[in-house]
Amino acid sequence: MQRILLVEDEAAIREAEAAYLRSAGYEVLEVGDGAAALQAFERVAPHAVVLDLSLPGVDGLDVCRALRRFSHVPIMMVTARTSEIDELLGLEIGADDYLKKPFNPRLLVARVQALLRRAGSRPLKVGRFVVEPDKLLVLKDSEPIALTTTQFNIFYRLLAHPGLVLSREQLLDAAHDHDPGRREVFDRTIDAHIKAIRKRIEDEPARPRYLQTVIGRGYRFVEQADA
Ligand code: CA
Repeated sequence: MQRILLVEDEAAIREAEAAYLRSAGYEVLEVGDGAAALQAFERVAPHAVVLDLSLPGVDGLDVCRALRRFSHVPIMMVTARTSEIDELLGLEIGADDYLKKPFNPRLLVARVQALLRRAGSRPLKVGRFVVEPDKLLVLKDSEPIALTTTQFNIFYRLLAHPGLVLSREQLLDAAHDHDPGRREVFDRTIDAHIKAIRKRIEDEPARPRYLQTVIGRGYRFVEQADA
């Protein structure tokens, strides 16, 4: 199930949006301010973020900028103001789309679905690596690397969040439909996939620089191990 982080300080609006997103099949994590949004992001590694622009404390612009320092997650900004649209979608802020308030929550669902569809096939370039989901293609220094679809999905998810630690559970979610009843088996499955990916992408698979283990927490992709 895909997870949406929903950041909106007006409870009535947030609850209505969350209800529509849930009925469309998404898991929704609701938070009411920017600081909580940043904390929640690290914890749940959502597939997309719906982010209100005007928030108490850390506002939506700052949340968006902060997320963009380490994540390519699709971000939908929600705002009553339209004067800042160019800036919102520009490189400095880095939102992917926006919705002007007020709107019918059905429209939000449709736009989030479209955003996730686009994001799932968006090419990424991180350091020496390029990944192109529509071709299941990974390039390292412009040379193709062969990965299975499952390995590709795991690698893509890690690469989409450089530096962020993803748990085995989050990586399983990326690789397959999640089945909590088979957690222990799955944990080992992820370790095996990581080992296989390392063989393909690392200069020295026994001493991984890019795909790092974070003991007790999971794995992360690091653009440059020495940086
Ligand atoms: Ca607001």
